[in-house]
Parts: sequence; C-alpha cells; structure tokens
Amino acid sequence: MHIASYLFLLLLSTPLLIAGANEYYNFTRDQRSLIGYVWEGGIIPYEFKPDFPSRDRAMFVQTARFIEQRTCIQFREKLASDRFWLILVLGGCCGTHGGRRPELEGKGQEATFSSGLPMPFYLHELGHTFGFPHEQDRPDWPEYAWWDDNKQDTCKGFSPGFLQFQAKVEQAALDIPFDYVSLMADWTECWWPKPPTPKNIPLGGGGSDDRTYSVLDIERINAVHGCGKCYGYRFRKITQLSYNQRPVQAGYELDKKIFYICRVYHEGHLLIGKSRPDDDKCWVGWDNGETEYKERFSVLTNPGNEANFRWIRSTGSIPSGAIKGGRTKDRETIYVGRCKINVDNRDTLIPGFYLESKPGELRVPFGGGVRRCNDFEALVCQ
Ligand SMILES: [Zn+2]
Repeated sequence: MHIASYLFLLLLSTPLLIAGANEYYNFTRDQRSLIGYVWEGGIIPYEFKPDFPSRDRAMFVQTARFIEQRTCIQFREKLASDRFWLILVLGGCCGTHGGRRPELEGKGQEATFSSGLPMPFYLHELGHTFGFPHEQDRPDWPEYAWWDDNKQDTCKGFSPGFLQFQAKVEQAALDIPFDYVSLMADWTECWWPKPPTPKNIPLGGGGSDDRTYSVLDIERINAVHGCGKCYGYRFRKITQLSYNQRPVQAGYELDKKIFYICRVYHEGHLLIGKSRPDDDKCWVGWDNGETEYKERFSVLTNPGNEANFRWIRSTGSIPSGAIKGGRTKDRETIYVGRCKINVDNRDTLIPGFYLESKPGELRVPFGGGVRRCNDFEALVCQ
C-alpha cells in the first residue's frame, strides 16, 4: 500500500502550534527547560473513546509496549487522579498535540487516528505527543533538506521564509543531530532530503509499514524524559562536552593516551569511531579509508554512571543489551565495540562499530585505513 499521500500530514494542534510557536518551541538544548511540556516521570495515562475500535486499541497497546521496551516511557490506563492524559479518538488520520499541553489540564488531550493504521502512524503521532515537531522543522535542516518550489500550492501558507524564521527558534534538538531517517521527518510536505539520500529506503513520508523510530529518535525520547539506567547514556557534542559528564573511556592509543567513543556523520552514515580528548578530533573508518573530523562530532558520555556498561567478548551475534551507536545511510543499525591491535609488541585498544547484518566483524579506524576484527568486545548495558 502506498500511503505517501496522507501520511503524517496533520497535526491536530497546528493552528495553536503556529500561534503559540514561541511557547511551543521555546526549548533550549537542555532538557531541563522542557519541564511543563514533558510527561512527568515519562508516564502517559490514556483512555479510549467508547467507539475506538478494538483492533485499533490493540495496535495502540502494541505500540505502547514497543516504546516501553526501548525507553523509560510507561503507558497506563488513566486513573481518576490524573491531571493530564491522552484520549484516543477515532477520526481522520492523524492528529495529536505537540507535547503535554498545560491548557488541557483536567480535560485530557486528544490523539486522533483512523481505523486500521499500522504501528508507524502511532509511533509518529506519539512522537508529537512527546513534544517533537517534524524533523525538517529543526533549525539545522538546511544542510540536509531542500525546499520544493514546485509544491508551493500544497504548502498551504508555509513559505521558506516562514520556516527559516521558525527554524531560528531553539527546539528540542538536545545535542542530537538532524536525522533524515527520523520517523518524525515528514517528507510529504514541502521539503526533500538532500543527497546523500538513502537508496530504496522508505523515508518518513511513504513506503512500507516497517518504518520505525530511528536510533536517534529513541535517544531523543530518552534524553527529553531524563531516562536513566540503561537509557541514561548520552552522546554530547564535543563543543558542549564537559568532563563531569563522564565521557566513556573505551580504549587507548599506542602511547596509552585515552580513546573516547565518538560519533559523526560520514557520507550520510552516522558512524562510531575513536576520539582523543587532547586534540578534539574524531576518526572513523568506512570502506577502506580512515577520515578525521575536527568538529561536529559527539562523544559518548554516561552522566552519573547511570548505565551499567560492560565490555563483553563477541560471540558473533548481537548480545543482549548491546549499545546502538548510529546507522548507515541505508538505515542499518550499527553497534559499539572495540578491539585490540598489536603493533611491534605494543597494544592499542580502539573503539569502532559492527553492523547489524555483520555482528561478527568490528570495524575500527587504524593507520589511515579500516581494520576488521573478528575477536573484539561489544559494549553492552546490563
Ligand atoms: Zn506529524
């Protein structure tokens, strides 16, 4: 089924959202300033309107379990004492409010779905419920998206100028880079991703029903809600990094200087590599080349040591609790690992990544190229 034409187009609160754009978008990149718009404790009470069909109730509950298994969010049926809750309403596809709406205290806020929708619709709309606008509405989209002048008629009052104005307003980016495979990207509107675009990959606006939250979508849900334990790690931009945020020491150079775990966009892939704190660089390996980045990368931190990280020897499959680091441009998830390389009787322990489709092979940047290790350690949280 091709669902591009009507997918994700409607935010129920769009007029309110625009009128109150400053209110809604007045986020800084620090999740503490989101308080008041975030569901307290990550708990989302809900109730169904009586005519909400049973099969769609089942899909909502299935979606809720999916989110609960990847974040600290918890859905539960509304109690009489709840001041804020979701009301699942049968109607046109689809609509929801952005964030938890303070003006709907004691009334409940509606989330509207038509019948028979698959999970990606619920995930996307609940992304709005968590407070996320469409990915292309972020301030940092111009590098990654372009405006389609030929679609002005379908843009209904939007203009690039308006969006650029809107884009100047800080929002819940939370140090997490723009992600064109985000399920919150809505490419059916007036924007399209710039090259390198993933080939044959369903973007937010259409395609098959197997779309889901990206790795970064999940990180953002956990960051906004201050999730802890195994959801408590954060990738922080190198420019925002302070050492009390506990960057994860993952290895060491031949001269025994520490390696941290870094993440950076490389040709559309979001890759894991090695970083040295003394010179603020990130090296990643892809194909057979090693590339150095001097800025715009992030470093894995574990604030408060919330996540109980362990390095375990790979058995050739993805271990339970494996830490996801990023993705290829084709949306394949990559995981964090490290391997030891011996050079003239000296060791270096280098962080890198393994692909979901090749979990027995770690790739690390080394000596201007890529070293592939079959004997390596995977980073897990237990
Ligand atoms: Zn939407």
